[in-house]
Amino acid sequence: MNNQEIVERLSNTFGPSGFERDVAAAVREIVEPYVDEIRSDSLGNVLVTKRGSSERKLMIDAHMDEIGFMVSFIEESGFLRFSTIGGWDARIIPSHRMTIRTDDGDDVHGVVGTLPPHLLSAEERVRPYRLDELFIDIGASDAAAVRDLGIRIGSPAVIHYPFQQLQGDMVTGKALDDRAGCAVLLATLAALAEETPELTVVGAFTVREEVGLIGAGTAAFQVEPDLALVLEGTIGADMPGVAPTRQVTRIGAGPAITVADGSQIVKPELVTFLTGIADATGIPWHYKLPPFGGTDGGVIQRSRAGVRSASVSIPCRYIHSPFSVMRMSDFDQTVALTTEFARRGHELIESA
Ligand SMILES: [Zn+2]
Repeated sequence: MNNQEIVERLSNTFGPSGFERDVAAAVREIVEPYVDEIRSDSLGNVLVTKRGSSERKLMIDAHMDEIGFMVSFIEESGFLRFSTIGGWDARIIPSHRMTIRTDDGDDVHGVVGTLPPHLLSAEERVRPYRLDELFIDIGASDAAAVRDLGIRIGSPAVIHYPFQQLQGDMVTGKALDDRAGCAVLLATLAALAEETPELTVVGAFTVREEVGLIGAGTAAFQVEPDLALVLEGTIGADMPGVAPTRQVTRIGAGPAITVADGSQIVKPELVTFLTGIADATGIPWHYKLPPFGGTDGGVIQRSRAGVRSASVSIPCRYIHSPFSVMRMSDFDQTVALTTEFARRGHELIESA
């Protein structure tokens, strides 16, 4: 599989926070040839180890979960009410197709129905739908038919948006936040497969980021890294109507390096180290504008006695919506920067 095929497979995989099992299975299968050890912990984090020439550890984190939904009530008429998993803008949920995962592991499709304009009053036409007005229609005739499918209160769901190639090397998929990061981590481990870096590299494919950076916290506690790097598919905001001061990252400008966000301030020597590596190897890069967003780095840096932690992001437009858009050249450049960071991270530890 090439990089784009890995992104496609991971983006299409079902995995809202708390229900990452399919993503974990895909990650384990892809990473197997590249690492010395693979294990999963009790929350579902997948921790893979590529042994280096020293015991000192670099943990590279990418979260496996995506934002999604959970069935919250089944109407007698067979319609499903739902609550959100992670940060949604309720205005953009109506009129999308949904995939609901049953107890048997099957996928059931449905739609988030809305009233036709014919039935809307003048006031209703300008008012966004509220979450509590929405429902999923799977075509079931009553609640018993829903239950017979293996759908119950608590069944998880995601919006159905298959991966597509757009113009040039632009791609779109439902879960680039953060399957793009997971795919960068897989491609980095593949690039390191034939060498022995100084640092032991632990790939942490973590769970439940979108509901509170949970898996990364427990992963860092176990791994006890000497250095950490977080990979994110983050806010690409180079679009019409957005002022340059709010264009947090830009598509086509290469990896975005975090100085500070809502969850952390990155140590300045770590930022300089990353930008120095990028400049020395000819990788285009840009700063992610502070203070927008937040990443697993916010909990990793405060693990135990503290961890040096940096974040590098692949710019993705429209995150936390039914789909996002990414440029594969940004992806490939993020792999190059992450790989070089893994090769040279020991220099940073030695100079500290
Ligand atoms: Zn994310």
